[in-house]
Amino acid sequence: MADVTRYEHFVGGVWTPPRGGRYLETTNPYTGAVNARFAEGDASDVDLAVSAARATFDTTDWARRSRERSRLLRRLADLIDDNAERLAQVESADNGKTLREECGMYSVTGGYFRYAASLAETLAGDAPTGNDPSVLSLTQREPYGVIGVQTPWNTPGILLAQPVAPALAAGNTIVVKPSELAPSSILELASLADEAGFPPGVFNVVTGLGEVVGAALCSHQSVDKLTFTGSPAAGRLVAAQAAARLVPVTMELGGKSANLVFADADLDAAVAAVTSGFTAATGQSCVAGSRALVHQSVFDTVLDRVVAAAKQLRLGDPALPGTEIGPVCTQAQLDRITALVAAGTAEGGRVVTGGRQPEELAGTLFYPPTVFVDVTTDMTITREEVFGPVLCMIPFHDESQAVRLANDTVYGLAAGVWTQDLDRAHRVSGALRVGTVWVNHYRRGDPAFPFGGYGQSGYGRFSGVEGYREMTRVKSIQILLGSA
Ligand code: NAD
Repeated sequence: MADVTRYEHFVGGVWTPPRGGRYLETTNPYTGAVNARFAEGDASDVDLAVSAARATFDTTDWARRSRERSRLLRRLADLIDDNAERLAQVESADNGKTLREECGMYSVTGGYFRYAASLAETLAGDAPTGNDPSVLSLTQREPYGVIGVQTPWNTPGILLAQPVAPALAAGNTIVVKPSELAPSSILELASLADEAGFPPGVFNVVTGLGEVVGAALCSHQSVDKLTFTGSPAAGRLVAAQAAARLVPVTMELGGKSANLVFADADLDAAVAAVTSGFTAATGQSCVAGSRALVHQSVFDTVLDRVVAAAKQLRLGDPALPGTEIGPVCTQAQLDRITALVAAGTAEGGRVVTGGRQPEELAGTLFYPPTVFVDVTTDMTITREEVFGPVLCMIPFHDESQAVRLANDTVYGLAAGVWTQDLDRAHRVSGALRVGTVWVNHYRRGDPAFPFGGYGQSGYGRFSGVEGYREMTRVKSIQILLGSA
């Protein structure tokens, strides 16, 4: 017990105990042991953090020193690289994702800060040509002020980097509310930001429950903009609070993404991507490829090969390098998967592999890769985001049916298109109602590419130049020349 790390809030550059004196715990999903203790915040803790962020924004020159911000972001990126393995271990112990996957994530997380650093140095305003030559017109991009950032448990580090790197690059100050299920890596990142030399009050973290700390952050009068990454259910509540205060919010929500496999695809590559698409991170990924739409001429081949590959995957201790599938994060998550799979079979879907927890895994949080066939797009299992290792496979007979099936969802986060035909790849990419299309690869992130959803997958974009603009607003300045 003695070596369980205890985290406080990080407010105004100081590790600050919760005013209420209470702490919450995270549990290691593999061992069941207490993994970390962290402050259970309330509205007064949020107020303290927002006041610190506000004071730094209003009374220091943080927003005007873009070169300095860029330098600090690069320093933080280097520290993340130097600490990548440790951060991966901390995060894996909180959320149960394999160390393999976490190390992959942390090998690219620093890049988000480096990319944002380059935008801080280069993106400026414009000088539009107006109608009247006696008026000099300028636009400048300004930070919002204080941004409230809420993150989920499934990939805390990178999902922090996506909004926070451009928010800081643009000159905002931030208050982060991590998920209560896996806050440790974000608190470690706050510590690295401190070590990098970010001024006190720029980067604040308040931990606690969503309905308490998250709600207080969303409704705080001094927060100028919100970002939210999480479920559509909580996203709706956050959007309602943002609407009540008329502040903008960037929403990154769930998905039911499809891989479309055409008959001319490189089937080796497609099978590998379909398999990892629904099993990587034990399916607990917003861009999990949880549907596979496969041309009828290759359907049976792809099905057999995906099932064979899924059966080969090694379940086990997430901390071991050979483990390919870890446990899911919580009992609630396991219960949700079990209930949705039961609904899938009750509604007529057929399970080809998996479908229930084997007896030898009883009492653990492991769930085996599960593949459904004989499903239609009106069934619960094909419509709902499972957030577990469950795939629905559906055959199609032509391109337009493939697109129709892919778009028959309330979500619109991502899709994979597998074909050797460049015309078709381009046509289908344009027809899919999703924020990201990967052609002949899948689930690859890059700080240079905007990321976000259509439909109930959210609105607004993280990453890329779009993601930077999202953290700024534009001011027009028109100077009447010769007026003096
Ligand atoms: P969640 O919605 O339960 O929680 C997300 C955050 O919201 C947490 O910090 C939580 O404490 C907070 N929260 C919960 N209730 C709240 C309330 N009433 N008011 C304010 N804040 C509240 O989501 P989760 O279970 O942590 O994450 C899984 C979901 O996130 C999945 O739907 C997944 O697809 C989605 N997700 C989306 C992306 C993306 O980039 N689009 C990335 C990762 C995860």
